[in-house]
Amino acid sequence: MIDFGYNLTPSSTLDIDDANMHLFDELCAMEPDALKCISCGSCAASCTAGVFTDVNLRKVLLSLQRGCEKDLLPQLKSCMLCGKCHIVCPRGINTRHLILSICKIYKI
Ligand code: SF4
Ligand code: SF4
Repeated sequence: MIDFGYNLTPSSTLDIDDANMHLFDELCAMEPDALKCISCGSCAASCTAGVFTDVNLRKVLLSLQRGCEKDLLPQLKSCMLCGKCHIVCPRGINTRHLILSICKIYKI
């Protein structure tokens, strides 16, 4: 195969048969604020741990909404619960509480 020096972006197509939407419903029942997220990325941009690790709350929430939570949830183990993301969230979501609830529900 010819090496063009770049790769195609991996497809973001969702396999609905594989997606597990029930867990996000469970999260929303416990933390209704999860529905307020507008995926602005302010939490990820200001994250203390994000400088040194892969933790990205915006990506985690998006992946939960899409029912493909397995890959990104381990990121939350790097969260230090400093609360900076709570301060900057334009939707006023208590992100620290949200992260703790996600860890509880998904047993991470
Ligand atoms: S800052 Fe708030 S609204 Fe923006 S992506 Fe993070 S949790 Fe969602
Ligand atoms: S609480 Fe966690 S996700 Fe939020 S800014 Fe601090 S380390 Fe990042």
